[in-house]
Amino acid sequence: MNPQRTLRRSISCAGIGLHSGKKVTLSLRPAAAGAGIRFRRSDLGGLEVPATVQHVGGINYATGLTRDAVHIDTVEHLLSALVSLGIDNVVVELNSPEVPIMDGSAAPFVYLIHEAGVKTQSASRRYLKVLRPITMTRGDKRIALYPSDHFKVTYSIAFDHPLLRHQSRTIRMSEDTFVDDIAPARTFTFLKEVEMLRQQGLALGGSLENAIVVGDTGILNNALRFDDEFVRHKILDVIGDMALVGHPLIGHLVAHRGGHALHTAFAAQVLDESEAWTLVDSPVQPERADATAGVVVKESL
Ligand SMILES: [Zn+2]
Repeated sequence: MNPQRTLRRSISCAGIGLHSGKKVTLSLRPAAAGAGIRFRRSDLGGLEVPATVQHVGGINYATGLTRDAVHIDTVEHLLSALVSLGIDNVVVELNSPEVPIMDGSAAPFVYLIHEAGVKTQSASRRYLKVLRPITMTRGDKRIALYPSDHFKVTYSIAFDHPLLRHQSRTIRMSEDTFVDDIAPARTFTFLKEVEMLRQQGLALGGSLENAIVVGDTGILNNALRFDDEFVRHKILDVIGDMALVGHPLIGHLVAHRGGHALHTAFAAQVLDESEAWTLVDSPVQPERADATAGVVVKESL
């Protein structure tokens, strides 16, 4: 079995919300085994929202969580870092409705988690292992999960822009590949969309410090961190959105032209199609198909 993990100690940082433009302090705090990832609003008396698909609300260029009067926005980059670094249980405390955008990537959250340190817990982690394909198509957007012995992600994007006509990448995910190849990839937007977003009261905190801005003939930032930073960021996003399933995945996630609405709808569909997966307590499969070690009976979620 693999034990569940939390942080060794609490750690904080400050930043601004990408869409709200508001200052926010973020604290990551250790949590008990089985607690999962929970967002807490210190400015609302400590009300909490668990990071699960049941609480998805307010998809507007970012993924939001809502429960009763509590709302948390732009959770996806932080969730991506937490699940990719194997943090099962944590309280994310905020004094404002939006997770800080930092530099637009997940690298600052990786740094925070590494600074806090990791502590193993006595309970066993449960992985969601895909047994049969699960697919979703909406117009020209597609996403699917296929059986695989490892968590792999394939993403492809296609935009009507000379820089972004087509990018595709497949990555077998591990803590190391996430830290090196995915976490530093920044969010991106098109210059022609910026004004439209601002008119909607969005991207008020956006700048070249926290997003790649794509103009008609090139990027407005000095340089990209990777030639294909755009598709890498989509992989970062989909890992964060799929974290709302509540278990690490064992399967091959394949997405084409997706966004937060598609990703989170798919996370809900995965939980609904409960005959297509099982919960196991080890990512490593037994030698023989008939061996039962490491396989546990499915629980309802
Ligand atoms: Zn993103």
